[in-house]
Amino acid sequence: MNFIIAPAPTTSLAITGTDQRFPIRRVYCVGRNYVEHAVEMGFTGREPPFFFMKPADAVVPAAMGDSLTIDYPALTKNYHHEVELVVAIDRGGKNIRAAEAHKHIFGYAVGLDMTRRDLQGECKKQGRPWEIGKAVDQSAPIGAITPKSACGELISGEIVLTVNGKTTQKSDINKLIWTINEVIEHLSAAWELQPGDIIMTGTPEGVAAVVSGDVMVASCAGLQPLTVHLS
Ligand code: MN
Repeated sequence: MNFIIAPAPTTSLAITGTDQRFPIRRVYCVGRNYVEHAVEMGFTGREPPFFFMKPADAVVPAAMGDSLTIDYPALTKNYHHEVELVVAIDRGGKNIRAAEAHKHIFGYAVGLDMTRRDLQGECKKQGRPWEIGKAVDQSAPIGAITPKSACGELISGEIVLTVNGKTTQKSDINKLIWTINEVIEHLSAAWELQPGDIIMTGTPEGVAAVVSGDVMVASCAGLQPLTVHLS
């Protein structure tokens, strides 16, 4: 292929127990998928699932067991952490039924949906799209994927974020309003899912601002933990 410029490299995630990597195609995110987080954002906590996206190159992969560093982004004075369970899809499909959804899941990781909350808030107020708040460069640091074949289907398990050693977010993935399987059913009704798509499933309550120098440690349901330094 005779490209006029060099094609962008494929962003990929480490996989526990192997040297193979998971190439990322698209990043879907679920909004307000824990009741207590919806409440803290000023909503009732019960609504149909809705989705937004980040570009694949917003993902910052962690090397196996390693921490990573992301930059504090431009234009914001209120950069928020959102710890989330991330689901990796290895079989595509459309109109996938919830009962069949597990067959499309390769594995799971823990990640952060970093958000310029002040800019997102302005978008909401003005009825504008969220990209400037959500689709930020380096806004999706994600740990290694644990294959479902190794950990089984994840239904429950603690999800925790600490900042500088202090717990800011703590919940359980069994509190997801829309389960992973239901999310896949809804998503695949709107888009044909493709191998390499990942889904950030939403954050529990306790989102808060971080500043340069902070260290965040995300953990979820026994998956490989993720340490993120904010420079
Ligand atoms: Mn989120």
